[in-house]
Amino acid sequence: MKCWICGEEEAATREHLAKASDLKALFGKPSQQQPLHFNASDIPGKPRRRNIRVGSLKSDTLKFAHRICLTCNSKLTQPYDYAWEDCSKEMRAALPILLARGSFRANWLFPYDTRSTMCRVHLYFTKLFGCLVVEGGIPLDIAPFADAITSGRPHPNLFLAFGHLPMPVEMVGGSDVHIAQLDGKVAFATWVYNVGDLAVNVMYALPGEQRQGLENAWHPHMGAKRLRFTRFENAF
Ligand SMILES: [Zn+2]
Repeated sequence: MKCWICGEEEAATREHLAKASDLKALFGKPSQQQPLHFNASDIPGKPRRRNIRVGSLKSDTLKFAHRICLTCNSKLTQPYDYAWEDCSKEMRAALPILLARGSFRANWLFPYDTRSTMCRVHLYFTKLFGCLVVEGGIPLDIAPFADAITSGRPHPNLFLAFGHLPMPVEMVGGSDVHIAQLDGKVAFATWVYNVGDLAVNVMYALPGEQRQGLENAWHPHMGAKRLRFTRFENAF
């Protein structure tokens, strides 16, 4: 099987759905005696995988079945992984303040190199969402996802909204992917990744789409001065 990002190398690794650093931050080191709960996405055509018990951070349950190659998983996308790791850590530490203010300045998150680091956060979720598209057979062209990741330029149709989503139990993972089609084409898709109560709503939207959630969304083209921090109310 070829890697979906470069299309060249033989795929050898499986991308984590949830970052190991996010899992560790929330649960410490899980064991078979004290497993963590993982909320996997509901992908059309796949059986539901909710609240699966996972005994190890290396468990295959936490990875996408679809593979990407070692180069793409390490050298190419590690800067994106690190950007999200920092973002996630800072945001979780500041959740009450973020909620009270309803917004934040990107240079509070990343004092240096603000715009490009925020773009790397965007590209981290471009990778995760791309894996969901490939694995779930979601009828979206994967080429722009691969191009964005390879070139370091943002995916033109992928938006992020950061916020707080109260969860009934401590959990890391993703929601279902909801898709809206127009004339047989995906016009809008929405998915939520969460680390405890910190949530990132990843949205794919064609130009002109006005869907719920997009009003709080951010795209690197908007710059990275002030971003909203949303109080998510439903569990998507
Ligand atoms: Zn590759």
